Amino acid sequence: MIHHASHRTAYFEEHIMSQTETKRVAIVTGASRGIGAEIARRLARDGFAVAVNYASSAKEADAIVAELREAGGAALAVKADVANADDVRRMFATVEAQLGPVDALVNNAGVLKAVPLADTSDALYDQTFGINVRGTFNTLREAAARMNNGGRIVNFSSTTLALNMPGYAIYNATKAAVEAFTHVFAKELRGRGITVNAVAPGPVATSLFLDGKTDEQIATFSKMPPLERLGQPDDIASVVAFLVGPDAGWVNGQVLRANGGIA
Ligand code: NAP
Repeated sequence: MIHHASHRTAYFEEHIMSQTETKRVAIVTGASRGIGAEIARRLARDGFAVAVNYASSAKEADAIVAELREAGGAALAVKADVANADDVRRMFATVEAQLGPVDALVNNAGVLKAVPLADTSDALYDQTFGINVRGTFNTLREAAARMNNGGRIVNFSSTTLALNMPGYAIYNATKAAVEAFTHVFAKELRGRGITVNAVAPGPVATSLFLDGKTDEQIATFSKMPPLERLGQPDDIASVVAFLVGPDAGWVNGQVLRANGGIA
């Protein structure tokens, strides 16, 4: 069929633009690899336009975006250190300008270095609290002012908080703070129709978990859940998809442990 130029414009406006306009918009922090990258893939499949946030891994983030676009999705790589409030403000502004106002915020970016409390340096303490706690605070504060009513927020805790293993004092303290934010913020958003929940994964086979562990340590962790395996990123992405999707509309202020039954 031969389209006249004006018909092509009309066709574009009616079909293509309306498709992008009706897409819900999600920001996934720390989506250049690991669990965040899998969440970005899953939310794109579920029809979200996805902002793939990263702090330093530009190549990896660009590759995820290219993959999502190739599959027909709308996606955008956005560099922002979540620990930096100005970066986070800029990230929201960029996403709003290019994809539209935000419907779902997934606060996945996080770091872990297991070190006994007595051996923890000031720098490691500041970095862990900066990214895990201040990073979540920065995006939540921005979301309060800017997110669409009816939106969904998913924060990231960890099952380590329930296990009290040596070496996890600082990390667990950051995740306890994230859980506290989750419970209170859910109530502070009264009237907006926005839910705020957290996911607390058990061990998941990503670089955050695997790096620095011996094969023996990894095997021990793999045997901990009654389901006798490590989690995979898609085990967690599917839980996030549920929490940001239509079936979780009545779930609010909760922490959902996805860990194969460890705790
Ligand atoms: P990962 O593989 O190490 O990926 C972390 C992601 O966060 C990367 O994309 C990284 O990108 C990004 N990131 C790090 N610092 C950032 C910053 N300041 N600003 C923006 N992005 C930043 O980790 P993961 O295992 O997928 O973990 C994801 C979340 O799950 C974390 O909150 C973690 O605490 C939680 N979790 C993981 C496990 C597990 O066993 N893996 C268990 C429980 C909970 P750049 O390289 O660009 O910085």
